[in-house]
Amino acid sequence: MNRSSTRDSLKTIGEFGLIRNVKRQWPASSPWIITGIGDDAAILKARRGEQLLISTDILMGSIHFDLDYQTPKDLGWRAGVANLSDIAAMGGTPLYLLVSIAVPVRVPPRHVRELYRGIQAACHPFNVELIGGDTSSSPSQIFLSLTIVGSIRANRALTRNKAEIGDRLYVTGTIGDSNAGLRILQSHQANRRPFRRSAVETFLIRRHLRPAPRIHIGQLLVNRKLAHAAIDLSDGLSSDVGHVCEGSRVGAEIHADALPLSSQLRAFARQDKTDPLNIALRGGEDYELLFTAPAKHHQNVLRVSEQTRVPITCIGEIKPKAFGRQLALPGGRKQKLPNESFQHFRSR
Ligand code: ADP
Ligand code: MG
Repeated sequence: MNRSSTRDSLKTIGEFGLIRNVKRQWPASSPWIITGIGDDAAILKARRGEQLLISTDILMGSIHFDLDYQTPKDLGWRAGVANLSDIAAMGGTPLYLLVSIAVPVRVPPRHVRELYRGIQAACHPFNVELIGGDTSSSPSQIFLSLTIVGSIRANRALTRNKAEIGDRLYVTGTIGDSNAGLRILQSHQANRRPFRRSAVETFLIRRHLRPAPRIHIGQLLVNRKLAHAAIDLSDGLSSDVGHVCEGSRVGAEIHADALPLSSQLRAFARQDKTDPLNIALRGGEDYELLFTAPAKHHQNVLRVSEQTRVPITCIGEIKPKAFGRQLALPGGRKQKLPNESFQHFRSR
């Protein structure tokens, strides 16, 4: 793709030119791939003793992203991480990716190249290989769908439905940053003024545009048999706690003052006169892991944190179903955990 000139258009290179460029930009090299891009289906060697993890995600222009405030590379990165994070939440190893894309013909090929560069950059640390996809024109919006294939030792995947009463609930990293970063980007775009970013804004925007998939943590939790259940934080903490509770038929108590909020999120919330707790509970797309582990593993969980240099914080515990989902506030007051994160097809 580096050979294409900047004047190229999708009209001149066509669908097959685009696919050729993609293949040149991201050539497959794994001995596990018998046939990658180029035939009707990819052929992969199966691995003995392992199970496959397969997950797919859609990104639609204007619902999930807006090229006014993020570059095609940012978009590619976030799409890649959304997929990688699904494998991380199962405790698996990401292996292969399929990328389907529908683009309006007015989009310059270099945007497509940059988009793939973002996906590739997110995948690079994990040696994920591109093995196929599909290409189409689109009337007005960019549409992107990624499918990831991963593997895990047989019967060891972390699921949402194995949390046990008495388990502790943990989250990795800090939460709410991504949503604050998005708010900053959107408000600057709405004001249409060029802006100098403060250090706080730069940090939060980066947390939105460059989230890190917690692959290594997921794998350590599986290898050391520490966790009972896990999910990645894509919808928002409150709603994702709800998914685990529903899946496992349990309740949960979250301690508000235990939630790991970055100093930058607190600073942003002070300035914006919003409640950082609210952003942390409802804001999505942090791509941190939420998992449950029996109390006896607490020290071992902290060791995972030390080894990966990612904070892991106990934020509450799993309760019987009848307890419901409660947020314990400082001072002893309790309230129901809000359950209103973003849902497609629902007006808010
Ligand atoms: P088919 O007509 O069977 O769908 P295509 O011409 O769409 O075949 O695709 C040819 C090859 O290119 C296939 O291996 C497919 O997986 C791959 N491919 C198509 N589009 C993309 C894309 N956007 N990114 C990566 N691989 C792609
Ligand atoms: Mg096709």
